[in-house]
Amino acid sequence: MGARTGQQFLAGLREHPPTLYIDGERVTDPTTHPKTRNVAHSLAELYDLQHDPQFRDVLTYEENGERYGLSFLVPRTKEDLKRRGDMHKAWADHSLGFMGRTPDYMNVNLMAAAMAPEYFNQCESSQPSVPGRDFGENMRRYYEFVRDHDLCLTHALTNPQVNRSKMASEMPDPYIALGVVRETEQGVVVRGARMMATLPVADEILIFPSTVLKENADKSQYAMAFAVPTNAPGLYFQCREPFDLGRDPEDHPLASRFDEQDAFVIFDDVLVPWERVFLLYDVKLANQAYGRTQAVLHMAHQVVCGKIAKTEALLGVAQSIVNTIGSGQFQHVQQKVSEFIVTLEIMKALRVAAEEGATLNEYGVMTPARGPLDAARNYYPQMFPKLNELIQLLGASGIIMMPTKADREGPMGAHIAKYLQAGNGTAEERLKLFRLAWDMTLSSFGARQNLYEKHFFGDPVRMASALYEVYDKQPYVDRIQAFLARSSKAHEAVAADD
Ligand SMILES: Cc1cc2nc3c(=O)[nH]c(=O)nc-3n(C[C@H](O)[C@H](O)[C@H](O)COP(=O)(O)OP(=O)(O)OC[C@H]3O[C@@H](n4cnc5c(N)ncnc54)[C@H](O)[C@@H]3O)c2cc1C
Repeated sequence: MGARTGQQFLAGLREHPPTLYIDGERVTDPTTHPKTRNVAHSLAELYDLQHDPQFRDVLTYEENGERYGLSFLVPRTKEDLKRRGDMHKAWADHSLGFMGRTPDYMNVNLMAAAMAPEYFNQCESSQPSVPGRDFGENMRRYYEFVRDHDLCLTHALTNPQVNRSKMASEMPDPYIALGVVRETEQGVVVRGARMMATLPVADEILIFPSTVLKENADKSQYAMAFAVPTNAPGLYFQCREPFDLGRDPEDHPLASRFDEQDAFVIFDDVLVPWERVFLLYDVKLANQAYGRTQAVLHMAHQVVCGKIAKTEALLGVAQSIVNTIGSGQFQHVQQKVSEFIVTLEIMKALRVAAEEGATLNEYGVMTPARGPLDAARNYYPQMFPKLNELIQLLGASGIIMMPTKADREGPMGAHIAKYLQAGNGTAEERLKLFRLAWDMTLSSFGARQNLYEKHFFGDPVRMASALYEVYDKQPYVDRIQAFLARSSKAHEAVAADD
């Protein structure tokens, strides 16, 4: 089929609705349910863009006479990677970067994993001679299946919190963490939960190895990678309280369209067919899967492009606030806006450095450079809360004194028009802008963004530790040693001349 339209995406959800629970009730059709229909339609808009003549060549590519979503492209050159970066940016721009988990995030994960079949075939449980049990081949075929049907994937990596001082096997119940219960002729039966899956309004869920698995043993029932449809029997998504309250987009400009939802995922003895199993029992392979297939770098590439879109939007809002209330002549205001500019330029530079520094990996995939992407994923979680605060400081009371559209059109409309007008425009224009600033930073939707940016790519503490561990610091230590040795030699020479 190749690149889908929005209607095809919605039809898929209607035919195979994910098993979602929100506010104590089952969502039977996510395309019409009041808490999910808007995000479903926003996703549909992304798929439609693939067919818009203006975006077609940015968002899709042709292979063997078929057009596919560009995030499925296997990049072989730096040009491919840059092209894919433009695709990520174009999709992110659609939500001003406020939907982090657009389907391209998982598509690049899948692409990179599928190109590394040898990695998954190292797994002892992989049996290349048995049909459906060749894990590397399973990975490759699954990628092709998702690409050909342009499916939307969610994923969940971490086990429920419960008690972080214990291993999964030491919990009060051995199946709090997701684990294998038994093998059958058809596949493996899994039971337990995973903590977080953003974008549960999806066709399939990819369960990849948790990179924080702490099992001591070489083999563990908790080490696995597989995929199942989001309506698989026994699979349930318990969603958090929605932020889309069904309000007019003028009042809740982001939450009313882009609440991508987060769910915890319950596997109540779900059968995973063998052909959907990619890794089993091997703790080491599980923990290294993202790094060794380099899927993490392709995902980080999507992230850096999305964060550029988000920072551009924040800069646009910050400067619009300044224009609206005429505060641009104050030096501290200029300094605050310059923080957005610096962050934006750093993120853009990191994207370029990652693309320019890309190299072919052992599987022949052009892979963005790790250093700039690690820098971006450690830097942005620190900057986003700061930018958030700066929007609040620039907007001050304007970000809270925002009568609604109904107020503006109601009996107090004339007063609102007079007292809440902007220095450079009408009250309506001003309120729309401040509502956007509020939804970005202060509403429940905005507050979730703050938490999301700090955690979505992993615990910031452990990400910094990982950077410390992998970054090659030795050349710089050697340079200092050489400098110190050189200084003393020069000194000795001068002393000898004396
Ligand atoms: C809004 C949002 C959306 C998300 N979406 C997804 C998603 O779609 N898919 C997905 O897989 N994940 C998702 N995540 C989960 C994300 O990957 C985790 O939040 C992140 O990895 C941290 O894990 P945790 O939340 O279990 O925190 P924990 O690991 O429980 O950490 C809690 C606290 O304990 C500390 N701590 C715990 N263990 C250690 C340790 N070993 N060493 C040092 N400190 C430790 C942490 O530093 C932190 O302060 C999302 C998270 C958020 C907030």
